Amino acid sequence: MKLIHNFKSPNFNDRKSNNIEIIVIHYTALSSISNALKYLCSKKNKVSCHYLISQEGEIYSLVSEKKRAWHAGQSYWRGSTDINSISIGIELDFSPSDINNKFTLKLNSALIFLLTKLLKKYRISNENILGHSDIAPYRKIDPGKYFPWQILENKNLSYRPKLLNKSEIKNSIKKEWLNKKKLNSIKKKILFMLNFIGYDTSLAQKNKIYFDKLINAYSSHYKIYKNYYYNKKKIFDVIEVHFLNIILTKNKK
Ligand SMILES: [Zn+2]
Repeated sequence: MKLIHNFKSPNFNDRKSNNIEIIVIHYTALSSISNALKYLCSKKNKVSCHYLISQEGEIYSLVSEKKRAWHAGQSYWRGSTDINSISIGIELDFSPSDINNKFTLKLNSALIFLLTKLLKKYRISNENILGHSDIAPYRKIDPGKYFPWQILENKNLSYRPKLLNKSEIKNSIKKEWLNKKKLNSIKKKILFMLNFIGYDTSLAQKNKIYFDKLINAYSSHYKIYKNYYYNKKKIFDVIEVHFLNIILTKNKK
């Protein structure tokens, strides 16, 4: 699969880090690939991405991977706030309210091709293949609840928590992590675990609207559980399994 180099964005600067650790997936919310190219390559918009993938599966290289493209904006993941400096941004030619409102087979295949290449090249963990809504849950909803994360999970290009049995969940790790920290409500436990997983929980601590946005961002990524959205206890169980997965992997290392 060839990259298209006919369009370049002037919107970039130098990275403040040499490590590329995260890939951020976006959708453009623009009605066509030509509009997206125009928008992302126009100096006055001050936004860009490294790659843009069309509905037909063409991959446009707009900014060199060596440079810091401007796609993440104000964002947070696992303590880092300058996500643009440590990430590669991929925009998908998709808009929920226009005719390009499908994640087509060709688009998905091109994305899989690109992610496979990038994960290998930079040794990026599949835990760090994220949506814009994961790193900016209070401002952004892209790539949206219809984005096919499960296709990426099937190819190990995105993290899928493994289901654990009850005895594993009730083991000492849980006691150590959740009970010792005196988290005396489900909400506090959820916020603690989501922050441990990577999310910025600062605003959600203070305000219910932001708490709901955060839960929405989580639910739309780990969509196999989307029916659990309105049941706090069920979403708690899902997040707990995810959290325990992360602790168990960390303990192995
Ligand atoms: Zn975005």
